[in-house]
Amino acid sequence: MRPIYLFVSLYKKVLHMTVKYKRILLKLSGESLMGGDPFGINRETIMRIVSQVKEIADLGVQVGVVVGGGNIFRGVSGQAQSMDRATADYMGMMATVMNALALKDAFESLGTKARVQSALSMQQIAETYARPKAIQYLEEGKVVIFAAGTGNPFFTTDTAAALRGAEMNCDIMMKATNVDGVYTADPKKDPSAERYQTLTFDEALNKNLKVMDATAFALCRERRLNIVVFDIHKDGALKNVILGADEGTLVHN
Ligand code: UDP
Repeated sequence: MRPIYLFVSLYKKVLHMTVKYKRILLKLSGESLMGGDPFGINRETIMRIVSQVKEIADLGVQVGVVVGGGNIFRGVSGQAQSMDRATADYMGMMATVMNALALKDAFESLGTKARVQSALSMQQIAETYARPKAIQYLEEGKVVIFAAGTGNPFFTTDTAAALRGAEMNCDIMMKATNVDGVYTADPKKDPSAERYQTLTFDEALNKNLKVMDATAFALCRERRLNIVVFDIHKDGALKNVILGADEGTLVHN
């Protein structure tokens, strides 16, 4: 082996030993894929996000991703007004499948193996969700993208993320947002707002701080699955969290 490759491989081994979380569930909202566009998938943005994930996967971190669909369709949005709610929600779930396929494609274009597992059967385009297979893929170092939310109307992809995170025995749920954590007030409106470094689930509830939707939050709390809220658009933020740096907000039991 050439000395440079030996050095890189040793460096990665040392970094792997310092990673704080070995298996994570990353929740990406549909909106995080839009970039500056008014809707849909922005290729440059998705490539930037996927590169961040690749960085930690290369350190040996096992990554499951739950992706939302709000950039394309939401069951509770104006577009769906006067529609039957369950039908609109199925459309929303199908939007998440489109995002999942785009993510898989982006991962593979960077040479990172990825699999899509859908909670709704669509066997021509994605495997149907199966827990043992998903765990096997994670152990093999493949990124597993969970599509179609929970497969049920009236839920959200935040809840799907909590569910898959608990089922996959993840060490942490990483909630990617456009803000670098949970603040005492809205930092866009109040310049004196301060970021919480850590918070307990109880504090978040008592202070009425919105971390995830109530069902997802309750499930994480009950399963003792801690949450880190961080800014996915900040370069290196994901890796910083994984390496235990002061990044984002940790919500814990
Ligand atoms: N959805 C659903 N059940 C689920 C997950 C999602 O019905 O388990 C539907 C729902 O209509 C939702 C849409 O899919 O509005 C997109 O998901 P979400 O709003 O959670 O996406 P995000 O806000 O993360 O982009």
